[in-house]
Amino acid sequence: MKVLSDQSVIQDLSTDKNSISFTAKHFDSFPQGTNKADEYSWFYLLCLQGQTGETTNISANLSPPNAPLTRDNSLVYWSHDRWTWQQLVSPVHTNHTGLPQKYSFTLPSSKPIYLSNTILYDYNHLRLHLRRFVDDHPQLCHQQIIGHSLQNHDLSIISFPSRQREYGRILVTTGCHPAEPDILGSLAILEYLASPAGIILLKHFTVDIMPMQNPDGYKLITCLTANGINLYWNFRYQDKSNCPEAYYLWKYIKKNPPLLYLDFHAYVHQYHRHPMPYLQSLACYTGSTTKKLVTKMDRVLTDLSQGYYKIGSLSMWPDALSTLVTNNFNTIAYTKYHFNMYEGVDPSRQRAIDIFSSLANLLIKHQIKQAHILTPPHGQVTPDQTDSSTATKYYSLHSRLKQIFIYGKSYYRYYRYRHRTDLRIR
Ligand SMILES: [Zn+2]
Repeated sequence: MKVLSDQSVIQDLSTDKNSISFTAKHFDSFPQGTNKADEYSWFYLLCLQGQTGETTNISANLSPPNAPLTRDNSLVYWSHDRWTWQQLVSPVHTNHTGLPQKYSFTLPSSKPIYLSNTILYDYNHLRLHLRRFVDDHPQLCHQQIIGHSLQNHDLSIISFPSRQREYGRILVTTGCHPAEPDILGSLAILEYLASPAGIILLKHFTVDIMPMQNPDGYKLITCLTANGINLYWNFRYQDKSNCPEAYYLWKYIKKNPPLLYLDFHAYVHQYHRHPMPYLQSLACYTGSTTKKLVTKMDRVLTDLSQGYYKIGSLSMWPDALSTLVTNNFNTIAYTKYHFNMYEGVDPSRQRAIDIFSSLANLLIKHQIKQAHILTPPHGQVTPDQTDSSTATKYYSLHSRLKQIFIYGKSYYRYYRYRHRTDLRIR
């Protein structure tokens, strides 16, 4: 058995007879802004080749090598082509951080095989899949190239124009951090929009789906851009030369501001976190109609997440696109809705469809149009009594109390279950 290093993303590799150990590769940060390179250098890709039936013992991120591992349900996926992935069914040992992994793997064939602690979809397969989808639905949607990434890959949006009079636009993004397989949310929503249920929604809403916000990250296999920018925490929309990914997306949004913006991410090793949305405080929005609708949408999302959500400064990050769209247009923004891969691929796909369709159906049910949500010149919303300083203080206090409650609940769950091996999302 040998490791194909040029196709692996690992460091500190050492091999000894039937054992392989390595650590996850560390990625470098862009020098300006918050890029969290350490936090986002958690994944690995190991490419192996050997005889069919050969078994090897694999240790990832294990230091010291005999560190105690208390849980045996960590996630490992394998694939021949980085498009169809299967979850390893035998136990994968880890500790309460979810980062180290120890397991044995038997080669199913003599072809090269990829192993990873996440699902790392191959860039070319994704591109072809999306192209084929658009070619198969020429009456419904088209692909727009809105610009090019730092390494000259297409920044592309699949647009579904409204079929009758347009009430407004909805924007969905995924693939900000390519090691998080949240692109499965976009792929599921595309299929939903081509189904009879989805087509009803397109009567009045134009839907823009951007599956790969960070194409260079898919190509290079990193959560950051080619020069180390973290697009979520450091959305450098004015920096065309260093961050064309943010510049061109913002340019598109300025021309086509959405009334609703959704963005998906995925937890992979964070087993203790329930799938949940990040909620902005009501104080971020202007006008009573928007606030009332956001309250309803928050409730729908929280219900779909069994009561879990995140609120506070991280959900209103000053350099995030969500903050930018809400500040500029009053767009209702739900970014960083996190799937959790512990729940599985199919339930996460269903979760994406449920979230998208429930929020879109709320817009239809309340006959919401762009003019009811966006501020001038794109809409008619102006400040009212709900934007007074007393009301704003009330909303801030309210979200602070909710935040204390939800953090308490989350940490209680983490400490109670951190050594449990049969943990399931519930
Ligand atoms: Zn992410």
